[in-house]
Amino acid sequence: MPDSRHPSDCSRCQGLCCVYPAFDTSEMFGLDKPSGEACPHLGNSYRCTIHARLGPSGFRGCELYDCLGAGPRIIALPEFAGRSWRDDAPTATAMFSAFRALKQVHELAEFLVTAGKLPLSTEQRNQAAALTAELDLDRDWSGQTLDAFERSGPALRIRAFLVSLRDAATRAHE
Ligand code: SF4
Repeated sequence: MPDSRHPSDCSRCQGLCCVYPAFDTSEMFGLDKPSGEACPHLGNSYRCTIHARLGPSGFRGCELYDCLGAGPRIIALPEFAGRSWRDDAPTATAMFSAFRALKQVHELAEFLVTAGKLPLSTEQRNQAAALTAELDLDRDWSGQTLDAFERSGPALRIRAFLVSLRDAATRAHE
């Protein structure tokens, strides 16, 4: 479920998802490309030049992709003001690392929202609330805090908590 506070507004992004991820030729992607190399269909103004025909062009994966709002938030970070991943390699590396980490933050926040809809015990519900507060999706992130997040306890604790909900997820589908 998209978070309306952080829309995936591609018009306020720089096509980060067209550059950072590696593509493998498959039924989802029409070409191979390594991480950090721009898709050849990305235009100069950071918009996809085949957006209206992604599926027929062999890029169904792009149609299904959602950065969960991480892309525009990265571009809006003060440290990247007026910058582009096209400027130089260090900027590109910093932007892509921050994008990878913030997308994880958004994914974990979304998973916790989904978990909250399961038939949880009071203890599990309290734990979900505490982890959501600890994750603090809306905080003023920076490249530095995102880098620290990827190596930090909260990310691991949230993943372990989500795994522990397997029984509750099974009960919800019975
Ligand atoms: S990273 Fe997100 S906002 Fe940016 S182009 Fe991709 S889908 Fe759009």
